[in-house]
Parts: sequence; C-alpha cells; structure tokens
Amino acid sequence: MQRMGIQQKTEETASVSYEHRNGVAILTIDNPPVNAGSHGVRMGVVQGIERATAEGVSSVVLIGAGRCFVAGSDLKEFGKPLQWPQLPDVIAAIEAAPFPVIAALHGVALGGGLELALGCDYRIAATGTKVGLPEVSLGFVPGAGGTQRLPRLVGLAKGIELICNAARIDAQAALAIGLVDAMAQGDLLDAALAFAIQHPTKRPVRGMTPPAETAKVIDAAAQTAMRRGKGRPNVAEAIRLVRLAAEPDMDAALAEERAVFQAMRVAPDAVALRYLFFAERRAAMVDGLEASARAAIATVGVIGGGTMGQGIARAFLQAGLSVRLVEREDESLTRAISQIGAHLDGLLAKGRIGAAQRRAQGEALIGATDYAGLADCDLVIEAVFEDMAVKREVLARLEPILDSGTLIATNTSYLDIDQMGEALARPDRLLGLHFFSPADVMPLLEVVRAGATSDTTLATGLALARKLGKQPVVARVGEGFIGNRIYAAYRRRAELLVLDGAAPEDVDAAATAFGFAMGPFAVSDMSGLDIAWAMRKRQAATRPAEARYVAIPDRLCEAGRLGRKTGKGWYNYSSGKAQPDPEVEAIIRAERAKAGITPLPFDMAQIQRQLLAAIVNEAACLLSEGIAQRASDVDVVFVNGYGFPRWRGGPLYWASLEPAAMIAADLADLAGAIGFGHTQGPVAQVLDEIRSLKSN
Ligand code: NAD
Repeated sequence: MQRMGIQQKTEETASVSYEHRNGVAILTIDNPPVNAGSHGVRMGVVQGIERATAEGVSSVVLIGAGRCFVAGSDLKEFGKPLQWPQLPDVIAAIEAAPFPVIAALHGVALGGGLELALGCDYRIAATGTKVGLPEVSLGFVPGAGGTQRLPRLVGLAKGIELICNAARIDAQAALAIGLVDAMAQGDLLDAALAFAIQHPTKRPVRGMTPPAETAKVIDAAAQTAMRRGKGRPNVAEAIRLVRLAAEPDMDAALAEERAVFQAMRVAPDAVALRYLFFAERRAAMVDGLEASARAAIATVGVIGGGTMGQGIARAFLQAGLSVRLVEREDESLTRAISQIGAHLDGLLAKGRIGAAQRRAQGEALIGATDYAGLADCDLVIEAVFEDMAVKREVLARLEPILDSGTLIATNTSYLDIDQMGEALARPDRLLGLHFFSPADVMPLLEVVRAGATSDTTLATGLALARKLGKQPVVARVGEGFIGNRIYAAYRRRAELLVLDGAAPEDVDAAATAFGFAMGPFAVSDMSGLDIAWAMRKRQAATRPAEARYVAIPDRLCEAGRLGRKTGKGWYNYSSGKAQPDPEVEAIIRAERAKAGITPLPFDMAQIQRQLLAAIVNEAACLLSEGIAQRASDVDVVFVNGYGFPRWRGGPLYWASLEPAAMIAADLADLAGAIGFGHTQGPVAQVLDEIRSLKSN
C-alpha cells in the first residue's frame, strides 16, 4: 500500500519521489532495502533538483524512505564502468541549485550516502542515526568529495581519523564535531521542513575553509592512521587526499580524488574486499531457513564465569540483554562478577561507554551458584571446562528446570555436540555458539548445527549473532569445527617446518610479512602451550606410530615453558619482548637429531606457501565432509577469527588467484612433508567454487 502511495506521487523515477509542501520540495529516496545509491537513485535526485529549479521552490528536503537515508553506493555497480549521472554529478547539481538542499538523515548515511549529504547545504539527523565513510575498509577511498567536504566541516585531523578508520559515529557525536547541523526533535520530515524555513540561504560545504589546526596535530593523526591501517596504499592515498582539503583549489582536489577512487576501486585490494563483503553476508544465510520461526532472546544464562564465560556475558550485556551468570561456588562467582564489573569500569574510564550504560549493564547482570534463576531464560550457554563428562552433567542438570522454549548452547571448542546432546531429552534445542576470545571483542561466532538442532534453534542462533554484532558462520559438528580444525593443520605445518630446519622466529616473520596479525608461535605463546599439550596426550593412544610427530612443544611444556603466562614458551619474554631463546634452540636441535633430520634451508616465500597450503588443503577436506556450507565461509572464518589479512580476501581467495601449477606444487610439498596420514582435499574444485563467487 505504502509503495502505491509513493508511486502516485512519483513522477521522476521508481527510486525517488517528488512532492511539494508549502513551497518546499521533498525528494524521497525509495530503493529498498537500504536505499543504495544506484543509478536510478542518482538519476532521480538529479531530475528532482531540475524539477524543483523549474518550479522555483524555496528549498529542497532530501530524505530516505524506509529504514535509512542511504546506506551507501550500490557495490554491484562497482566492478563495471559507472553510468551517468555519477555521484559527483548529482552533488554538482545540488550545489548549483539556486535553493538550499537539506539532507534529512535517519538510520544510516554511509559512504556515498554521507557524501551525498555532505554535498547538501545542511544536514539534520534523527536520534540514533549513524554516519561514516567506510570506503577505506573496502580497499579504496571516498570518491565523491568525502575527502574534501568532510575535513572542511570537521578539520583535517578528524577527517583523517574518520576516513582512515572507516568509523561510524552516531548523530550526537556528528553534531558535536559539526558534521550535522541539527538533531530532529519528533518527526524527521516535519523537523527538516521547519529547518528549511529557518535556513533559507544556500551554504554549500564547498565554500568553507577547514577549521584551523597545527601541522603537528594533523601529522599525528596521519601517523596513527597509517599504523592502524597497516600502511595499505589506500590509507596512504586517503591521507594525502584529505591534506589537499587545505589547498584553495577544490576542483583540482576533487578531480584528483575521483581519479584515485576510479583506479583503486578496481585494484586487487578492493576486489578482494568486495568479495569478502559479499562472502560475509552469504555466511549468515542457510538455505531453507528463511521461513523458520525465531525465538526472541532477551534474558540469557551463562554457566561458567571463566575467561570465556565472562567475555560472553560482557558481549550479551553490551547488546542490551539481561544476563544470569552461574558459577560453582561463592568464591569463583564473586571473582567473575567483580572482574566483569572492573572491565565495565575500565570501559567507562576510557569513555567507551557512558555512566548510564555502565549502570544499566551492572544492573542487568545477576550472579548465582544454583540453576534456579535460569528457568525463565530464553537461552542458556555453558562455558564450563572443556570436558565431555562435566558438560554432559551440566546439561542433564539444567534441562529439567528450563522452560520448554529455552534454547541451550555450548561454547565448546572441540567436543562432539551430538554426544553432548545425548544428555538431553530434547537435543533439538541444543546448538553450538563458539565464541572467540575475548568474546566481547572478536567478531567471529561459529554457529554449530548439531545433528538434532532444529531449524528454529539454528535460526535463533543466527539472529542472536546479529544482535550481538557478530559475524556468524554456520558449521557442522567435527573436531574443532571450521576454524580450530584448519588452524590445527596450519600450526602442525609450522611445527614441521621447524623440525625440518626453519627457526620459529623465521616462521613467525614469514606469517606476519604475509599479513597475519601474529605468527603461529607467538599465538601459541599467547594462548598457552598446555591446552594443545593436553590434547596431544589425550590423542597419544590413537596416533598411528608411522605418523610424523613434532615433540618440540611437548619438550617446551616439560621444561615449564607454557607461553607468556610463564614468561617463556617458544620465545623468552624476560625482556618484555619476544626473544629467541638458546634453550629452545637446543631442544629443537635435539629433536632433529633424534629424528635423523638434516636441517633444510627454507626461505620466506617457501614458508608462506607451505603455511597457506596447509590451510587450503584442510579447508578442502572439511568442505568435502560438509563441515562448512561453502568455500567462502572459510575465508570469513580466517579473516574474522584468526588474524588473516582482510585485504587478501581470505586464504582460499588468495589461492584462487595463484597459478594452478604453483598451488599443485605447494600441495605436493605439503604431502611430502606430512607423509603418512596425509589426506589430500579436493582443492581444485574448491578454488573453482571461489572463482565462480567473485563479484567481478
Ligand atoms: P576457564 O577454565 O577459564 O573457565 C571455566 C569456568 O567454568 C571456571 O570459572 C569454572 O569455575 C567454571 N565451571 C566449571 N564447572 C562448572 C559448573 N559445573 N558450574 C558452573 N561453573 C563451572 O575456561 P574457558 O577458557 O573460559 O573455557 C570455557 C569453555 O569455552 C571451554 O569449553 C573452552 O573449550 C571454550 N572456549 C575457550 C576459548 C579460549 O580461548 N579460552 C575459546 C573458545 C571456546
């Protein structure tokens, strides 16, 4: 019905309607679901401005229908030549119009959407609106004046920070820095129309000079941005372009910005990041699940208040949910509650949350040492010790007291959720929610669909992930699900490289030079060597005698080198930094001698290719077993959970760009190094799947 009403008013295009109210023209962008700035929208705005000019209106209000102003440009158009009018043409028409144009913002105004608003004379926003220029996170730079108009309003240093961090800020913060001119009280359109009457003169951002700042402040912002942006070329270009906003010739700067934008949007980083953008959206989808009912989740129970339980509780609190935390006894409960409180105080002190939010989150957390308070929770997640017997006992005790609609989740890293479900009368309500540490910070959430998990349970898990602001990826039950299983193959390859001749620091250096946030041995030291040690001991009885075994980490553990927490592991941390240690070198030499190995030289490229080959092969194995739904999900997991460089698109995407013969040679080397027990995955087929997914 609403759509019909709009069409009656529409005379320009299907995407932008035009109407009059008291001499003010209202242009309503209506391109569901998020008013992406497609060709039709751009054309509609230009035609609306032309019509308003012909009709001699006093002002124009530009507003979005539905849930937002404009969420961004239409990324689907990005791989091809853009059609006229492009966004700069639309903004030029707005600037040239004889009347002021007021952008009325709600929901989000991002990327091209914010650039459009910056091209208007004024911006008024509804409470809760989010604005930002995310282009840098997609591998390119703003291309429709964002690098020129934003700093003219907020200053160069703030402009560099917002653009290079791809930051989204809310309207109140935008008002404080001068990015929006007013907040709408009450109805947005009414407020915008009233604002239009009060502001009858034109005031394009183009005519402004950026606020005065010292070179030192701008340089500091640039340095921070380069560091945070890992020195990627588009970050450097964004900084250079923002600096041009201080120059008098804005037309030259806009032309330069457009040229950089055009070149970068089709360059490898941007193509990879666009692939990932669509891969991330796809990862949250499960065929046949669209119509499933979802339970509303408002109150959650968390059993276990250790590292993960606390992080999970914080993630729920952040999302505005009520949390009931259960620990074994008073002492551990008090510790967990006070540690969460101290964490929230830290966030308050750093200004990340406000006093009201701190109070609300504190009040939303209730602790207990029995399960009685969990009865009416919408979902209860267990994060107790990684031990099947303990987990099954917890589930069996829990189920009888729960409402019939309560869902049950486990945060297990490796255990078989089907076996866990045997402890329940209704395993259909059990699923895995595998958070990554720290759970309130890490974006990835593996949503594990066990054999008996119902569609409603799974759909609710996915909806909850979105509510928490997480990136969900659906996995089936299997040791380590998607991420930890592939990571184990990667770490095993790293350890074999050391046994065969590489130094741990060379392997880590190769990984970080490739772009990983940390190398595998630095990661092991950080998370503690004892966890994997315990697992190896558990598996010792079933390990085939012929399989190559790297005992170096066992020797490290036996020597009390459990990682950072003991001050030493693969490295020595006595100086505060990770340093190679002669004791580790001696252990490595002894293990090589025991295995009769003459150390081989490995160069950086060989190490990198072998680490990647291990990931790619294991990914292909688990895809063929149906543990992951699709190849691109593996890329989403590695980028969001394992520090894989985002700009490379993911390990499978990376491999899909490499010559097939080189990947085949890497896989042959991998097979040779692993020897007995090596399983070759259907890699060529998986890489074909990735190639077919690419957006361009
Ligand atoms: P942890 O040892 O820090 O915490 C476990 C907590 O559970 C302890 O505080 C303990 O007192 C409590 N607990 C044990 N039995 C209980 C019971 N019957 N009732 C109530 N509380 C009980 O362990 P963690 O690192 O938080 O791991 C918890 C789970 O999360 C494990 O299954 C682990 O595999 C998984 N996980 C861990 C990580 C990680 O990085 N640490 C990441 C993902 C998943």
